[in-house]
Order: sequence, then structure tokens, then C-alpha cells
Amino acid sequence: MYDVIVIGAGIVGSYTAHELARLGYSVCVLEKQPRPGHKTSCTGIVSRACLEMLPAGPGIIQWEAHSAKIFSPAGKYIRVERDSTQAYILDRAALDRLMAKQAKAKGAEFHFSTTVSGARTDGNCVQVQATRHGEPGGFTARAAVIASGSAAGITRSAGLGQVHEYAQGAQAQAERKNVAEVEVYSGAGTAPGFFAWLVPSSQAHVKVGLLCRGNPKPYITALLERLTQQGKINQAAYDISYGTIPLKPISRTYTDRLLVVGDAAGQAKPTTGGGIYFGLLCARLAVQTLDESLKINDLSKRRLALYQRRWHKVLKNELAIDYWAHRFYQELDDKQIEHIFKIIERHGIHESLLASPDITFDWHSLVILDAIKHRSLQRSLEKLKAAPFRLFDGRTRSN
Ligand SMILES: Cc1cc2nc3c(=O)[nH]c(=O)nc-3n(C[C@H](O)[C@H](O)[C@H](O)COP(=O)(O)OP(=O)(O)OC[C@H]3O[C@@H](n4cnc5c(N)ncnc54)[C@H](O)[C@@H]3O)c2cc1C
Repeated sequence: MYDVIVIGAGIVGSYTAHELARLGYSVCVLEKQPRPGHKTSCTGIVSRACLEMLPAGPGIIQWEAHSAKIFSPAGKYIRVERDSTQAYILDRAALDRLMAKQAKAKGAEFHFSTTVSGARTDGNCVQVQATRHGEPGGFTARAAVIASGSAAGITRSAGLGQVHEYAQGAQAQAERKNVAEVEVYSGAGTAPGFFAWLVPSSQAHVKVGLLCRGNPKPYITALLERLTQQGKINQAAYDISYGTIPLKPISRTYTDRLLVVGDAAGQAKPTTGGGIYFGLLCARLAVQTLDESLKINDLSKRRLALYQRRWHKVLKNELAIDYWAHRFYQELDDKQIEHIFKIIERHGIHESLLASPDITFDWHSLVILDAIKHRSLQRSLEKLKAAPFRLFDGRTRSN
């Protein structure tokens, strides 16, 4: 009988395991892959605030970005730059390995090649059913944390439902040729409903990726070909990996003896798909709630509801505004995106937003609200009579 079982040794699961083991709890981590960081499509772009929550290790930071070119569907671009580093590009697989190693060093026990099929509360404990190296078995603990990423089966088996809306993602590593900084691409032919990116990860390599609705395979293949033709990357044997990103959190992230964190709970930004920082912030609140509840031996859902109240206080509005901004963007056609680019450029909206203290890498809601209050942008959207404008029409006026 462990104090806590953590399901999933991704970044959020290993962080949770580390923090609980550090507090002296017996922790067991169950991971279906044979080793940490085995399969990841994550680009690993994080802010300074996020970096500070992560362990430092050689080779973890691959690149620092302080500027980016944002391309319209027709290929025009706006360049944004700040003096200081705005984002760190991390080696996500190496980071997952390091985090698991550090959690192990604190006493957490890891079982790899162990696939969890379900978790249910049984009187004074939680029973986790798993198949280990093909053999069925069970694990028991006082509490469990579901950190299994976007795989929905476990939250469903625990009666907590599942994330219903996802973006599909793809990423490949390529040889870097003639490209100096981060580039972001928009347009229905490139990444419908979202965007694509090229991010330097060393002097010799870049990560090329995208998010979209539907199957990302034809889009990532076309993007890699286009970038090769443009001389930005070298034709190479691209190793493409795929993943999904939740766009909306599940409605309940707790029940008796169980909490849900990270992508499993839908705690990622619907604007950019970044899930590392918000997942870690919520894991920290899960650990705090579990620590207090384990100490008084009250792991009832009434008590654990505190976790959801805590993370909602930090993120609920942020995620709701980000989701709405994503929906707005998703509804725009290429002509409308092109028009908005023109307005932004003509009125220097990007420059005034960049100068605003509200703009941060992680928190987008304030800058979204700032942007839509911009008179010239509002007027132009009204003129466009863009269908998406109706999405926020009432809200901007009442604000
Ligand atoms: C293409 C792409 C690019 C991205 N880029 C960024 C980025 O630049 N910055 C950023 O912040 N975020 C990015 N993300 C999002 C980020 O990867 C996730 O938000 C983050 O990995 C969530 O961490 P997690 O620990 O909750 O889940 P995961 O990292 O998915 O970990 C879940 C773990 O649970 C394991 N697991 C699943 N099911 C079971 C089971 N049944 N039994 C046992 N183990 C199981 C999995 O094998 C995995 O190891 C990106 C995502 C994609 C798809």
C-alpha cells in the first residue's frame, strides 16, 4: 500500500511524484512506455517562470528565443522582438528523463512498461488495475493522481468523464539551413484552425511543428517540403511524431482519493497548445491539497474538491478567454486573417502590445482583451462583419 500512485511519468506526473516523495510520502509511478521521454512530440518551449519550476541539467536548454517572425497566409510577416529572452526551447525527452531520475532519487518507485486500465476507490484505498510487461496486476494506495496526458480511458473509468475537444499536433526535427529566428505560420492551407512553427533548437537543427483540427499528417509533410524549397531547412529523413492537445478542461478533476492533473485534466492553453507550465502549476496545487488531506486522513471528494477550487482560481478565467480567442481565430478565413495582419501592421498594434506590461509568454487573457479593445482593430472587424466577430461582440461592448 503506497501513499500515492501517480499514473503517467510525463512531465506533470514526474513533477508530482518528486514533490510528494520530497515530502516523505511513499510514491509509485506507473508508466506505459518502457522509459521516460520515450515518445514525445512536444517542442518544449517554455517561459522563464516555467523554467524556474524545472530541474536544471546539462543539455536541457537547447535555445533561447527573443524574437519571432509571424507570417500571414500570403507570406507577409510581422516581426516581434524584445531585448531579453522571451522563451526557452528545452529538450523535452531529456527533461522527462531527468525529472524521473530526480523523483527516483527522492524515493519514488517507477514501474515502466506498465499500462493502467482503470482506477477506482475501494473503501480505504484506491485500486489501480494495470498490465505490466503483458501480465495483469493491481496496485493499491491511499490516493492516486491521474497524469496520463491526453489518453482519456483512465479519467473515464474513474467516473470523471474525459476531454472532448482536442487539437492534433505533429512535429519533426530537421537540419537548419537559412533561418535566423522563430517563425510562425498561419493559414488554412498550412495549419487549419491553428498555426505552424519553426523553432531553432541548435546551430544545426530546428523543430518544425503544427497544430490543426483533423489529421496533421498531410499538413506537416507539405510544410516540411515548403520549408525545404524555401532553403530554410535541409531535406532530410524527417522523423515525425504526433500528439494531441486538450482545448477544454474536464468539468471535475477530483473524486474520492483521486485527482487529475496536466493534459489529462485539460490544463493546457487553447491559444498556443502550451501545457507544461499550467500543468506544473496545477500539479503544485494537487500536491499541496494531497499533503494536507493525507495528514488528516481525509481523502473524501468533499475535501479534495479544494484542489479544483484552487486551480480554478488561478486558471479558470484564463482558460475560458484563451478558448474563446482560439475559437475566434479558428473561424477566420485567410482573407480575414490577411486583413487583420494589415490593420495590426498599419496601426503598429503589435508594437503597442509588445510595450504593454500585460504581455507575457504564459498569460494571454489580458493581452487578448487589450487587443480587442483596440479601436482600429474593432472598427476593422466590425467592417469585416466577420462571423467570428459575433463570438465576442457582446462581450467587448459590455467590457
Ligand atoms: C506537437 C506538440 C507540441 C507541443 N509543444 C509544447 C511546447 O512547446 N510547450 C508546452 O508547454 N507544451 C507543448 N505541448 C503540450 C505538452 O506536450 C503537454 O501539455 C504536456 O506534455 C502535458 O504533460 P502531461 O505530463 O500532463 O502529459 P504527457 O506529457 O502526455 O505525459 C503523460 C504520460 O502518461 C503516460 N500514459 C498514458 N496513458 C497511460 C496508461 N494507460 N498507463 C500508464 N501510463 C500512461 C504516457 O505514456 C505519458 O508518458 C505540445 C504538444 C504537442 C502535441
